Amino acid sequence: MSESSKLRVAIVGGGPAGLLAAILLARQGIRSVVFERQSWPVDKVCGEGIMPNGVEVLERYGVLERIDRSRSRPFYGVRYVDSTGRTAQGRFHGKPGRVVRRIALSEALFEIAREENLIDLRAKHELCSLNEQSSSIGVEVHDLADGAKKSITGFDYVIGADGLRSKVRRLAGLDGNAKNSPGKQPGRMGARIHYAIEPWDDLVQVWWQDGIECYVAPSSNGCVEFNFGWDNDRLHPRKNCGEVLSLEEGLFRFFPELAARVKGARATSEMRSWGPLPQRATRPLLGRVALIGDAGVFYDQITGEGLSLAFLQAELLTNSIGDWGTERGRRRFTRGVQKLADHYIRITDFAMFFTRHPRFRSAMIWLLSRSPKLFSHMMHANMGQAALVGPALLHAVQAVAWPASPVPRHEAAPQARVLERTTHGPAGRA
Ligand SMILES: Cc1cc2nc3c(=O)[nH]c(=O)nc-3n(C[C@H](O)[C@H](O)[C@H](O)COP(=O)(O)OP(=O)(O)OC[C@H]3O[C@@H](n4cnc5c(N)ncnc54)[C@H](O)[C@@H]3O)c2cc1C
Repeated sequence: MSESSKLRVAIVGGGPAGLLAAILLARQGIRSVVFERQSWPVDKVCGEGIMPNGVEVLERYGVLERIDRSRSRPFYGVRYVDSTGRTAQGRFHGKPGRVVRRIALSEALFEIAREENLIDLRAKHELCSLNEQSSSIGVEVHDLADGAKKSITGFDYVIGADGLRSKVRRLAGLDGNAKNSPGKQPGRMGARIHYAIEPWDDLVQVWWQDGIECYVAPSSNGCVEFNFGWDNDRLHPRKNCGEVLSLEEGLFRFFPELAARVKGARATSEMRSWGPLPQRATRPLLGRVALIGDAGVFYDQITGEGLSLAFLQAELLTNSIGDWGTERGRRRFTRGVQKLADHYIRITDFAMFFTRHPRFRSAMIWLLSRSPKLFSHMMHANMGQAALVGPALLHAVQAVAWPASPVPRHEAAPQARVLERTTHGPAGRA
């Protein structure tokens, strides 16, 4: 038996980060108990677009093939639609990304985890406290099914994969302060809803308005997700001239063409919101506690990197946990996570600048509309697969001097083919 296979790990949170970590640990012979306060499969507010680097991780470990194809769909790049109607598009160089219904992603990961003997899955178990000692760490959990509190001891490490509002992060004293949290403006919010309409693009669309974006994701055949991100401190979607609107009406009001698309269509999920978003732990590993996924860092949905980052961190954790007994091994994990997070924050900051400065945004979309190559380059830089500055500058100069055939301005949206009609769509109610 190798040294690492004697380890026993508690994972708090059975979201994508926690379940993938448990699966990868089990494949290295490491035993884990996953505590999840909800029941699987777990849904969550998410744009559901997994970038190609995240899809690659899922493919590498046989998760991709287990995802229900009827609840997912590939996407081949991103299209920006500016408030002026100008559009720009960039396609991925290699394999596509994939939009996956969160519940389908959870189902696939849960099924795989259930097949592993070394994983003990505990649904409806909420973490209450940690009890770290010199040679081990214990957890106290609340069994939400029978109301009992249980103490479970003897773990070598506790992995906090419990998302944005991580209790593990707080209990371990790893909450970031305002200074080291990304995003000085704490007011970003997100919300999503699905409609039963046929996707009309093979790219994820990002519709920009001042202080608010709508991400339109082709979820599956016959289903499109509309996911919104906005500055809550600048914009109050539900308030309109003294009137209080539903969140759907309030958000779609900024995007009349998209409201026209969903008019009369059936919403297949409720509009759900989530935020405020930015969060970063002071460090990813302290004593016997490590953080992965949103528990460690989440800034904003704008770059569509959250899931990929969570998967890459789960991989990094598995590859280094056997060495956490040494300072070198701990540094390897810490540096690896920080490198991923720093890159993600730099790129997200760059994108956030454009959401808050309409003139620069219009200029950027104008530039990208003249050079799909530049746009593709930026997307690969986003995934850490290309340098942000050098070659991008070259493409930018080329775009100004020798533009590719211009991408047409966005035409008024034709009414989407409505698969199921109802009177409940926001535009229908308006
Ligand atoms: C509006 C929005 C849009 C987004 N769009 C995208 C996108 O298009 N692409 C992308 O890649 N990413 C996107 N993201 C980010 C993505 O959703 C997250 O990065 C991803 O869910 C992180 O996974 P996780 O496992 O770390 O956390 P989570 O998915 O939040 O999972 C955490 C789990 O821990 C459980 N838990 C919490 N507390 C406890 C406790 N005390 N005890 C036990 N269990 C607990 C929760 O129930 C949950 O199941 C978006 C996020 C938002 C908010």
